[in-house]
Order: sequence, then structure tokens, then C-alpha cells
Amino acid sequence: MKRLVEESGTLAVFHQMNKLRAMGKDIVNLCVGEPDLPPAQDIETAAVQAIQSHHLRYTPSEGIPELREAIAHVIQDEGWRADENRNLIITAGAKPALFTTLLALVKKTDEVLVPVPYYPSYTPMIRFACAKPVYIPGNPQNGYKTGPQELKAYLTHHSRFFILNSPVNPTGSVYSPDELQELLKFLQKNHIVCILDDVYRHFIYDETIKEDISRILKPFQRSIILVRSLSKEFAMTGWRIGYAVAEESLITPMKTVQGHIIGNAQTASQLAALKALQKPGKYALPLHVFNSRRNDVMEALHHVDHLSIIYPAGAFYVFADIRRIHPKKNDVMVCSELMEKSGVAVTPGSAFGLKGFIRISYADGSRLHEGLDRLVKGLSSR
Ligand code: PMP
Repeated sequence: MKRLVEESGTLAVFHQMNKLRAMGKDIVNLCVGEPDLPPAQDIETAAVQAIQSHHLRYTPSEGIPELREAIAHVIQDEGWRADENRNLIITAGAKPALFTTLLALVKKTDEVLVPVPYYPSYTPMIRFACAKPVYIPGNPQNGYKTGPQELKAYLTHHSRFFILNSPVNPTGSVYSPDELQELLKFLQKNHIVCILDDVYRHFIYDETIKEDISRILKPFQRSIILVRSLSKEFAMTGWRIGYAVAEESLITPMKTVQGHIIGNAQTASQLAALKALQKPGKYALPLHVFNSRRNDVMEALHHVDHLSIIYPAGAFYVFADIRRIHPKKNDVMVCSELMEKSGVAVTPGSAFGLKGFIRISYADGSRLHEGLDRLVKGLSSR
């Protein structure tokens, strides 16, 4: 069988960590992008009640009407138009939302533009959809973000989609309202649809720019497919609920594709998600906890000579350039050594298409300080 995909570099680190732990080694997890906090108790109670109702049946492929309505309200509060029957699909997380988007909408000859560094699943998803990924190098002077300047050289008459992830996994960079406007104008002018992977929106630490971002996105709504998830914001990673919002002509084929693959997102999880989205402000994870972890990571890394750090305005990752510390070793080797010799798991930049970096995740804060001590010592000892 033709090999379309390889194991993701993020999962490879996770598996190595679990293997060493099973052998009795103590490894601190600074690799996984999964909050350690539990979801709010009301969300869990809603799921239990859903199970006990004995009515967990198939739902419409686009999801239950009540949840679509709640999502439409969230979107409308941000100033977008969204009709729960036309513009929305509930999916089993952001991954299936992205995958369904590509499977339903991408043609064989299409090129999908992907800024580097990128979330590792984009490439296999694009390949499964039989399209071609085209990688756009980010601007190192600007947190590896991409703009029209970088994009121009990569446009062809096959360019049809652009995947924009902001805040970015792995860098934690956030596109500013001005950068977004410039980028979206350029994409619109070139008839390129923007797939906006917005899973870390909640984790923008300067809350004042959230509203500005919504305002900037609004006039471009027709050329955006907005993808969101409850995984990170509500600590519902394993519950598998996400959604996509777009023009009806784009959402309709996605409903058909999803109907043939998973049928519908898990019914109990949809009912629990309904609880979460009826009062998102009440049930979302406390941002100040992650902000304080971010400060702790920055403070600890400040003590490592020759380490350059991209300013992490969002998400729960810090992306650090280790090329001046380890000019002769590749990042995969460095991460392996940090794991085996220092007992701390971080992810190599090459997993995200950018060699010479490491990604430190502070999603799990249970042993953050111990992990940072080990990391700082490991990096400083070379
Ligand atoms: N996009 C990005 C950028 C991510 O980091 C992740 C999860 N790590 C996803 C999508 C997938 O999220 P979900 O759990 O909702 O499938």
C-alpha cells in the first residue's frame, strides 16, 4: 500500500515518554498539548445525565439542533452571521472538522497553502484528500508568521486553500488584527479560501485583542471556514466535540461527508457541550492559570544562555531555537537526550516542519517547575 502518512512527531515523543515510564523512568511531561485540569463539574454532570436518559441515539449528521443553536449564538456574539441550519456542522473535534473540510471541498489538482511551522496533522489530511500541500516559510523576524510578502512566491493557479492557525501550535504566536486583515485581503483578492484553525482562541492572553480580531474577521466571513473545538477551552479533549462554521455551499457537502464517516459526533458529548456553550464564560478554563504558567516558563528559560524564544502571545506552548546551543546536534537527538538523560519530555521542532527548535508545552502544569528545572539543567549542560 502506498504510504501516505507517517507517525506524527508529536505522538512519537509521547510514545517514547510512555515507554520509558513503563520501564520505571521518571519523565516530566512538557510535551503533550492537553490541559491537566478537569472540565467543569456541570459539564460532567450533563454527560452523566445524558447517558442515564437512555436516549443516546444517532443524531443528524450536523449535530443536535440545540447545540447548533448555542454555537450560532456564540458566533453571533462575535459579530458573525450564522444560521444553525445552514452554516454549521458539529464534528468529533477540530481534527475531524479540518479533515471533513478537506475531503469535502478539495479537488485533486488543488494546492493547500500551509505556513511553516505547522500542526503535524495538516499534511496527512491534505494528502488523504488527494491535494498538494505547499509550505510557506514564516518570517523569523515576526515569530514565523506568514503574510502576503511570504505567500506571493508560492501562488499558482492551483492555490485554493490556506490553513491559518492562530494562536499557532507550536510557536504560540498570535496574528495581530492588522496582520490578519492584510493576509485575508490578499487571500480574498486571490480567491483563496481561508481555513481558520481557531482551536486556541480562548488562549490569547491579551484579552483586549480578541474583540479586535472578531471585528477584523467579520467582513471576510464568506471566504473563511472557521474551525473550533471544545478540547482545549473546556478541557474536553477526549470528549471529541468541535465545529465548523462557513457559507452554506461549503457546509452542505461537509455534512454529507461526515454522514458517511462518523455519522454524527458522540451524542452524550454533544449534550455536555451544550451545557458548556450555554455559559462559555463560566465553564471555560481559567486563563490566568495558564498565563501564570507561561510566565514561569519564560522566567525559567531566561536563565539558559544562547536560547532564542519566540514571544508566546497565545496557546500553551513556547517554541525555542536551540541552534546556538547545539550547532552540531539535530533537534530530535536533543529531545531524545533531554528525555533519557534529564527526564523531561519536549517535542522537536522538526515535528512541525521547523528544525533546530523545541516546543515546550505548559498545558500540563502538574509538575511544571520540576520539568523546567530539568530542562534548564539539561540545556545548560550540553
Ligand atoms: N489544530 C491544532 C492546531 C491543534 O493543536 C489540535 C490539537 N492539538 C487540533 C487542531 C485538534 O484538536 P481536537 O482535539 O479538537 O481534534
